[in-house]
Amino acid sequence: MPIYEFKCTKCNTTFDKLVRGEITPQNPVICPSCGSKRTRRLVSRVSSYRGSSSGGGGDCAPSG
Ligand SMILES: [Zn+2]
Repeated sequence: MPIYEFKCTKCNTTFDKLVRGEITPQNPVICPSCGSKRTRRLVSRVSSYRGSSSGGGGDCAPSG
């Protein structure tokens, strides 16, 4: 999944957020720091999750 990096133009905080689809003015990215909608997407830097299988996770087996 595409994870873009955003920057808040209010508190100048950079954060990465997973974007699904396209970013529209009606559905802006909210700054997790101050909660402002004035965020800009940064380019030339895309983060991606590495396939790292670590950590215990409760996996419930589906039993009928
Ligand atoms: Zn902010």
